[in-house]
Amino acid sequence: MQGKIIKGIAGFYYIYVIGSGIYECRAKGIFRKEKKKPLVGDDVCIEILDEEKQLGNLTEILPRKNELVRPAVANVDQVLIVLAAEDPKPNLALLDRLLLTMEIQELPVKICINKEDLISAESLKILTDMYTRCGYSVTAVSAFTKEGIKPLLPLLEGYTTVIAGPSGVGKSSITNLLQNEVVMETGEISHKLGGGRHTTRHAQLIRINENTFLCDTPGFSSFLTENIEKEELKNYFIEFRPYEGECRFQGCAHVHEPGCRIKQALEEGSISKNRYKNYLMLYEELKEKKRY
Ligand code: GDP
Ligand code: ZN
Repeated sequence: MQGKIIKGIAGFYYIYVIGSGIYECRAKGIFRKEKKKPLVGDDVCIEILDEEKQLGNLTEILPRKNELVRPAVANVDQVLIVLAAEDPKPNLALLDRLLLTMEIQELPVKICINKEDLISAESLKILTDMYTRCGYSVTAVSAFTKEGIKPLLPLLEGYTTVIAGPSGVGKSSITNLLQNEVVMETGEISHKLGGGRHTTRHAQLIRINENTFLCDTPGFSSFLTENIEKEELKNYFIEFRPYEGECRFQGCAHVHEPGCRIKQALEEGSISKNRYKNYLMLYEELKEKKRY
């Protein structure tokens, strides 16, 4: 039988099989020998040991499409970056860094602006436009009023989506609204319980429907920027792509060079000043790093 690992705890894997539910499985010894560790998100084959108690053995890991390190999840189709329109204020430098991380990993990314109830329609439009103009899909929602939550579903349908973003932006609230089985703690509840949340939580998939899964991760903090050269940075700012080859100098870094098409686009307002500022910041960072 075939299923998907949605959770792994202390040597047990919880495997969702369409139409049959969740089986508790152990991985057979062969994986240890092969040094192959099953990951949440893996599509696997299992043999049933006890149908009534839903126990089984994990016998085979099917080929992975991809594999993220932090969070440790396999077969990720896309990332939904959540930010808040307000409270906490959008940290666009962080957003651009997250976008860069996803571009480096070639992960399709969508942006979700939550807490739209806290800002004016005008401010929301400015924020949304900044990223839709780059070519990103941006959806505004409010987990509080539930505005925009239903339209979010088709963007996730059929995919395994990792949800990323700073804490407090509403990731758990949105996830709670989207799913109907697992009830996750939102900040409010856990404050009442007095417990520290997001401390030792492992990656886990939350099932929205038969083929739609979410992975809400505490602090998607591993940035892969250290793996790239400053010269490569420009390739990951997707709004620069239409201007490729149009600068006076081949290999233009779009920093100080004369006849730079990106700088012209910036003057014309086709490229966001804020995005460009963050490009320069990341460029400087990569330049500094090389001195060591
Ligand atoms: P997470 O850390 O990203 O998972 O954020 P939570 O889902 O725990 O939400 C953090 C806080 O923001 C909680 O107090 C929520 O009630 C609140 N919150 C979440 N979504 C909204 C929203 O759309 N509007 C408003 N006003 N508050 C929200
Ligand atoms: Zn240039």
